[in-house]
Amino acid sequence: MPPKITLFTLGGTIASTATDRADGARVSLTGDDLVRSVPEVRELAEIEVRAFRQVPSGDLRMDNLVELARAIEECLANSADSVVVTQGTDTLEETSFVLDLLVSDESPVVVTGAMRNPSLPGADGPANLLASVRVAASGLTRGMGTVVVFNDEIHAARLLRKRHSTSTAAIGSPLAGPLGHIVEDTVRVLLKPPGRLTVRLPATPPDIAVGMVSIGFDDDGRLLRQAAVAGYDGLVLAAFGGGHVPASMVAALESLAHAIPVVLSSRALAGPILRHTYSYAGGEMDLIRRGLIPSGALGALHARILLQVLLMAGVERPEIAAAFESVLTAQARLVLGGRARRPQPLSSTAVQSQPSAHEKRGSA
Ligand code: ASP
Repeated sequence: MPPKITLFTLGGTIASTATDRADGARVSLTGDDLVRSVPEVRELAEIEVRAFRQVPSGDLRMDNLVELARAIEECLANSADSVVVTQGTDTLEETSFVLDLLVSDESPVVVTGAMRNPSLPGADGPANLLASVRVAASGLTRGMGTVVVFNDEIHAARLLRKRHSTSTAAIGSPLAGPLGHIVEDTVRVLLKPPGRLTVRLPATPPDIAVGMVSIGFDDDGRLLRQAAVAGYDGLVLAAFGGGHVPASMVAALESLAHAIPVVLSSRALAGPILRHTYSYAGGEMDLIRRGLIPSGALGALHARILLQVLLMAGVERPEIAAAFESVLTAQARLVLGGRARRPQPLSSTAVQSQPSAHEKRGSA
């Protein structure tokens, strides 16, 4: 029996067309149109299409993603073996990471999109959709969290970066490389993260606003001072290199870090925040001592999402710091939020033995 896949479509370039090049492309294609454009998809799986949103990805909001994560969990529990999501790439780093954090079911969740819209020669959407369905149907990413399939590569949502604004090879994982590839009609998984962090939200999570300030050369701290009075619930700092700012900013940062969680991450494309290398005013040792929370090796965009989701879950400061510490390096399943006030390691056996939807439906 072919696997059952639910395809959630959210709009974006993969679903955008231009009737006249001069008018520009707009979101216009339905999920059924997308599937029709790649007939092979129906040979790999039984596909149910769910039109979730028809928007450019910059218009998606956190509450949309919470709703999507719940719809995915509901599908995986009742009717689907795996899920594919199509959306725009502009916010793909963030939205796929939200799903990674919120969908605790171990069944494959694959997100994809396109860099060239279907009106252009060499549009990449159909190839990305087919590759994503192959990955989802293979079941090989089970237990790995949300992955993004793009340009015949499989990336962990928590590691990926959009590295280029137009290239069809825009999606990459500069810190660790892809987890696998799609070669001809075969899915090859090369690496498997040993664990993952998920967060349980309350039934009605509070609205949480997390700001992000990137520090620039010769920055006089004006924007940081504005952010401090803007009413954010948390702030992410995209600092220089291993986590550094000009000395003139440390006093403002220290008082802000006493008021709200301030996460110290880097504006560099990839790499960790240091812990004990630079002790000068504005060095990472100084900032951590003043109460900033290091993001580990999580980049600023991802750090902003993790902080927002943790605050929505009511997770408190010590666990927030622990979550940043473990989100990329967890060796087991960790759960935060909900009734769990502390990280709850689940044995990898428990994770492995979660039934697929096939088994849940008694049709394996
Ligand atoms: N503006 C588009 C969006 O994010 C770009 C894309 O789809 O890649 O929806």
